Amino acid sequence: MGAPIRAFVIGHPIAHSRSPLIHGHWLRAFGIAGSYERIDVRPDGLAAFVRGFPMAGFVGGNVTVPHKEAVLALVNELTPTARRLGAVNTLSLAPAGGILGHNTDGEGFVRSLDEAVGPTWSGGPAVVIGAGGAARAIVGALLDRGVPRLTIVNRTLQKAEALRAFDPDRIVAADRLETADLAAASLVVNATSLGAAGQPPLDIELTPCGPDTVVADIVYVPAQTPLLCAARARGLRAVGGLGMLLHQAVPGFETWFRTRPQVTPALRRLVEADIAMAA
Ligand code: NAP
Repeated sequence: MGAPIRAFVIGHPIAHSRSPLIHGHWLRAFGIAGSYERIDVRPDGLAAFVRGFPMAGFVGGNVTVPHKEAVLALVNELTPTARRLGAVNTLSLAPAGGILGHNTDGEGFVRSLDEAVGPTWSGGPAVVIGAGGAARAIVGALLDRGVPRLTIVNRTLQKAEALRAFDPDRIVAADRLETADLAAASLVVNATSLGAAGQPPLDIELTPCGPDTVVADIVYVPAQTPLLCAARARGLRAVGGLGMLLHQAVPGFETWFRTRPQVTPALRRLVEADIAMAA
């Protein structure tokens, strides 16, 4: 038997991260001799950690707030997705040597929607509210998926306009949500932090939405945000942020531990129970 395979999640602070719960569940489920370790890395220690993790016996890991952008300059290679997004959430050893930076957030979002409502959500226009790091990953993934038109609405208009550069023909940037955009949307996404525990709710009126609109919230604490409750009350399909969190973890686990894990009901229940305690 070889040495146990070791992976990590780094951030600052890191105590809140649910990634150890997710990867620990999969390690136990597959009986893999390995570990997934939570490591608090301060910004001034980031370069030393990233450059040194292969020698310290790790095969890779996840990167979270506030390091997702700073880590870009510290890796040897980037996947096209990470390069386009300007952010990394997953590190691994590159096949040719050195460290590879990847970003799986957008893939996690798309897979979570497919799992929850099937593939048809991408057939019409989308509205993404927010233009921060998570919105960036989601916008990239929606474009790759072929969404025909995307309206990005953000309090700070310049940040929405900056995201237009991804595809100026398909993206419209705005600082307020128009009724016509909601009426035309197949998909409405809250990619702001509004609705998260301790934050005010995202205050939008879903009345213009058609009956087939899918409403997604990437906030996952609490599991049932005010937006999701309002969507369900109108009979709309509502998708919470937990699926994105679980699905973004799949490619990293597969790379490090060489086994592709599943997002199962048992894993969902485990993380939901943890969230319920925190909310
Ligand atoms: P971020 O980069 O800080 O962006 C925050 C976004 O929220 C910005 O668009 C910001 O608008 C907007 N916002 C914040 N407060 C607002 C307010 N009072 N009114 C209007 N807009 C407001 O954060 P992020 O990394 O994108 O994360 C956003 C949320 O997604 C967080 O709750 C995070 O936990 C969650 N998230 C979930 C997953 C998942 O796997 N489900 C993954 C990543 C993030 P401005 O640009 O105007 O400031």
